[in-house]
Amino acid sequence: MSEYNEKPEKLIVDGLRLDGRKFDELRPIKIEANVLKRADGSCYLEMGKNKVIAAVYGPREVHPRHLQDPSKAIIRYRYNMAPFSVEERKRPGPDRRSIEISKVSKEAFEAVIMKELFPRSAIDIFVEVLQADAGSRTACLNAASVALVDAGVPMKGIITSVAVGKADGQIVLDPMKEEDNFGEADMPFAFLIRNGKIESIALLQMDGCMTKEEVKRAVELAKKGALKIYEMQKEAILKRYLEAGEEMDEIAEGREDA
Ligand code: ADP
Repeated sequence: MSEYNEKPEKLIVDGLRLDGRKFDELRPIKIEANVLKRADGSCYLEMGKNKVIAAVYGPREVHPRHLQDPSKAIIRYRYNMAPFSVEERKRPGPDRRSIEISKVSKEAFEAVIMKELFPRSAIDIFVEVLQADAGSRTACLNAASVALVDAGVPMKGIITSVAVGKADGQIVLDPMKEEDNFGEADMPFAFLIRNGKIESIALLQMDGCMTKEEVKRAVELAKKGALKIYEMQKEAILKRYLEAGEEMDEIAEGREDA
C-alpha cells in the first residue's frame, strides 16, 4: 500500500520532497543488462519503486508478411503493465494508456535505430512493468535502450528518458507517484544521446500546466538528469560485455586445458 493514498498536505517540506530528494535529484537507479536467456537482448531496470524488464528480439523475419517494408526494418514496441504492478489490480491486456505509451515509445526508437540496414525485418521490443510508481514509461524506455544495445541492434545513439514534474509550484526531476498524482504537471522526456551529448528530443509529452519559464527549467533539469542516467546505462552495458569477455576467456582456457 502506498504511504499516501490521499493528497498529502504538502509535497515539499523544508525545501525537500516527500522522499527526501532535492528538486534536481533522481530516484535511485539500478540497471542490469542480459537478464533473459531467450531474448536477443534484455535489461532489468529499477527507477525508484518502478521495476521493469525489457526484451528485444530481432532483427528477425516479419510476421505477418504483409507488414514487411522492403526498404527498412519495422519497429514494434509493446508496453505492458502486470496486473500486480499497481495498488489495485490492473485489468490485464492493452488499454488506451498502454497503446499510447507503446506508440510514442516506438516513435522515439524510430529516431535512433538504423532501420535501413535491415529491410523486410522486424525489431520487437517488449517492456513489462512489474511494479509502477510514476515514470514507468521513462523506466521502460531506458531499459529498452539497454536491451537494444545488448541485442547488438545498430543505433545512432542511445535513448535516455526521464520526466520532470511540478509539485507545490516547484519544478522537480523524476517525479514519484505522489508528485505525479497530486502535482500540477508531469512532462516525460526522451533524448537521443550520442557520445555523451544530447542530440535531440525523441519524446516529449505533457500533462498539466507550466509557464514558459517553467518549461525552460524543466528542459534544463531533464537534460541534467538524462545525462546521469546515460552514464548508468553505459556502465550496465560495459559490465555486460566485460562479463561476456570473461566467459569467453574461461571457455578458451577450458579448451587449452582439455
Ligand atoms: P507513467 O508511469 O509513465 O508516469 P502515468 O503518468 O500514466 O504513466 O501513470 C502514473 C502512475 O499511475 C503509474 O506509474 C502507476 O503507478 C499509476 N497507474 C497507471 N495506470 C494505472 C492503472 N491502470 N491502475 C492503477 N494505477 C495506475
